[in-house]
Amino acid sequence: MMKPPNFTVRMEHPELERARREIREFLAHDPAMATPRADSWSHFDPAFSGRLGRAGFIGMTWPKRYGGAERNSLERYVVIEELLAAGAPAAAHWIADRQTGPQILRFGSEDQRERILPAIARGECFCSIGMSEPDTGSDLASVRTRAERKGDGWTINGRKIWTSYAHQSHYVLVLCRTSENAAARHQGLSQILVPLDAPGLTIRPIINLAGTHDFNELLFEDVQAPADALIGTEGAGWAQVISELAFERSGPERFLSSFVALEAFAEMARREPTAEAAALIGSLISRLAPLRGMSMSIAAQLGQGESPNFEAALVKEMGSLFEQDVTERLLEEVVPAADPESSDKFRRLLAEAVLRAPSFSIRGGTREILRGIIARDLGLR
Ligand SMILES: Cc1cc2nc3c(=O)[nH]c(=O)nc-3n(C[C@H](O)[C@H](O)[C@H](O)COP(=O)(O)OP(=O)(O)OC[C@H]3O[C@@H](n4cnc5c(N)ncnc54)[C@H](O)[C@@H]3O)c2cc1C
Repeated sequence: MMKPPNFTVRMEHPELERARREIREFLAHDPAMATPRADSWSHFDPAFSGRLGRAGFIGMTWPKRYGGAERNSLERYVVIEELLAAGAPAAAHWIADRQTGPQILRFGSEDQRERILPAIARGECFCSIGMSEPDTGSDLASVRTRAERKGDGWTINGRKIWTSYAHQSHYVLVLCRTSENAAARHQGLSQILVPLDAPGLTIRPIINLAGTHDFNELLFEDVQAPADALIGTEGAGWAQVISELAFERSGPERFLSSFVALEAFAEMARREPTAEAAALIGSLISRLAPLRGMSMSIAAQLGQGESPNFEAALVKEMGSLFEQDVTERLLEEVVPAADPESSDKFRRLLAEAVLRAPSFSIRGGTREILRGIIARDLGLR
């Protein structure tokens, strides 16, 4: 039986307009905004994240006793949408705010919440995702990194790869095998929060197509973690990771990575309007608007503790198609086009977006995997 997707577009509310005014005001005065960035949630600037955290824009929905601001999930949505639309360098706190913090809030112990969440909310504690392994990206249930109970804690051995910002963060949330059950691969997985300066943990850089060092390979050789580094329940790692992926796949970063280039193009078109430019902008914005409505609906569902994994897969797949199309259409239409060294804002931003666009449909789950999830939930396979 085909399951209908759950999308209910919410109306604008006064508190959302207030959140939008506040973050715009913040960004208007922040020094980092002198150089806006394409794919800005891949630009790591700890000082910017610190200022953002002190202003109350990280961990916004969390309880005040853990450093949060007890605002609603759509107020947070408005803030991250504005950060992306402005091209703010938001990578440092992004993963901790989007998924590690919410995982700790949902599955962590009281002690873990009190210890870690306030530092994340202040923009002083950054986290990485330790899911992918050299032979295990799409098929996550086959992870081979092992954590064994020894004495009072865990001993971890294995390798992770593509670990974004591990070289600049404080913790990595490692998905690892804590017991073997060949017949049920999804069982026996757990999540362990490991400090990135732990002895035995080697971090090797991987340079990406854009020439920057964003991700890494991590080698765990008898890395020791205390018993209370386990997040949630031993053996329940698969269910926990699936709920984490809904946070990872549904946000506006899945369709706004190249938006700054589109906006810079629109600025040029305002100065020298043409029918072609109007048609191009119109056709792209008409795809952006429904994506935004879908993504906001998921934010509201996540805020109510639901796990809309199917809906999140739809947004991620349609969103990455959109943000890749933005760069391609702009490259086709505009001469002269992208140049990373250009002093012209549009040409520089387009070059940044073009260099990063191939990763849009790989990071967070590949196109084929997301289409498989969508087909399964539609009852087509
Ligand atoms: C910019 C970037 C940042 C990243 N950051 C992180 C991070 O911080 N932490 C982390 O853990 N990971 C991270 N990743 C890794 C990312 O999640 C994986 O690259 C992705 O899940 C794909 O896994 P893989 O590279 O092993 O490819 P594979 O799984 O080997 O896939 C190779 C190809 O085969 C296809 N394929 C695989 N299985 C199937 C199937 N069953 N049916 C049809 N086609 C299939 C895939 O779609 C793909 O085209 C990042 C990746 C990128 C690009």
